[in-house]
Amino acid sequence: MEFSQYQTDALLSITNRPPLVFTEGHGMWLTDHAGKRYLDYLQGWAVNCLGHSPQCIQDALAAQAKKLINPSPAFYNAPSIELASLLVRHSCFDRVFFASSGAEANEGAIKLARKWGKKNKNSSGGDRYEIITFDHSFHGRTLATMSASGKPGWDTIFAPQVPGFPKAVLNDLDSVEKLITDKTVAVMLEPVQGEGGVIPATREFMQSLRAFTKQRGLLLIVDEVQTGMGRTGKLFGYQLSDIVPDIMTLGKGIGGGVPLAAMLCREEIACFEPGDQGGTYNGNPLMTAVGVAVTNELLQPGFLQSVQDKGAYLSAELLKLASRHGLQGERGEGLLRALKLSSDIGPKIVETARDMSPVGLLLNSPRPDLLRFMPALTVTTQEIDQMISMLSDVLKKLGQ
Ligand SMILES: *Cc1c(COP(=O)(O)O)cnc(C)c1O
Repeated sequence: MEFSQYQTDALLSITNRPPLVFTEGHGMWLTDHAGKRYLDYLQGWAVNCLGHSPQCIQDALAAQAKKLINPSPAFYNAPSIELASLLVRHSCFDRVFFASSGAEANEGAIKLARKWGKKNKNSSGGDRYEIITFDHSFHGRTLATMSASGKPGWDTIFAPQVPGFPKAVLNDLDSVEKLITDKTVAVMLEPVQGEGGVIPATREFMQSLRAFTKQRGLLLIVDEVQTGMGRTGKLFGYQLSDIVPDIMTLGKGIGGGVPLAAMLCREEIACFEPGDQGGTYNGNPLMTAVGVAVTNELLQPGFLQSVQDKGAYLSAELLKLASRHGLQGERGEGLLRALKLSSDIGPKIVETARDMSPVGLLLNSPRPDLLRFMPALTVTTQEIDQMISMLSDVLKKLGQ
């Protein structure tokens, strides 16, 4: 089929899409309407942790769809109970609330922290509701999560913002301390800022922030929508720095491609009362059955070690590429990595790589001087070599 035969005008325009319609995906590979194949280092923005259409997700969907799709969140269902138990068993948290998107999970975390701040008032008897977040952070696209995000320009596009999200500087504890008022209830951060350009919070910062928030009676919320579910080589990113946060949100990888997200908290913070929180699709068995299948794959012996090994391999290959082409280096954790370019050619690289033939390469440039790599956690070293070789050709073509 020709691209021009698709009636794309019926879709509300929200982003500039290339003239491609993807029709199939398997593992690290996508196929478009014309039959051209692409090596996919986006994987739906770090969503397809097991690659495109893995067998275990196909099986879980088919089996669950035959049994029960959605009895309503007003009743228990077996897959949601099983997934919550799995997550609780393998994390420091005690309770799980399921949602359908990362932003929705973060809304839940913000609501829970505000509720807790009403119950645990300040010394003058007032509510605490301010949540300190960070410059360049990304927490989602609802009004509250946009307000919590530190993305430049997001404070004005849909003004007025939801109040109560002062911004600190990542890896700078003083900047957090300066923002504390008698209304502060929590600090929220990504263990590695993803959309901001793959900027890890240091181990020392995470540890001192945990000690500091504990000492001041504040909650520590980790947004692990991108870093959770094995992405960093640990099941959860907070485990890289050996801390115990109070609240965590998950999204992206937990569904392996289907809409599933979660908010987890420790027992002593679980203060929602009936009616406070909910949602029509929350914890439906069709999606949570997929979550169970995905989580069980990640928990297979050796799986997380293989993510660490391939992360180290990708890191080393990116560094070699950087030195061959005079680039600035690389950074990241596990299989969430970024290549620092020497000029603002990120968007040009993305376009050139995609348009290569006979096969294309899909990359992401969250900032013009940076490329981000979010392969499936099941990526092979051969698929890493192939990407490096294709990227090297693109850089040569662009005179780098
Ligand atoms: C993607 C992302 C979100 C938003 O998730 P959606 O499912 O798009 O709502 C929130 N936080 C982080 C860290 C993310 O990477």
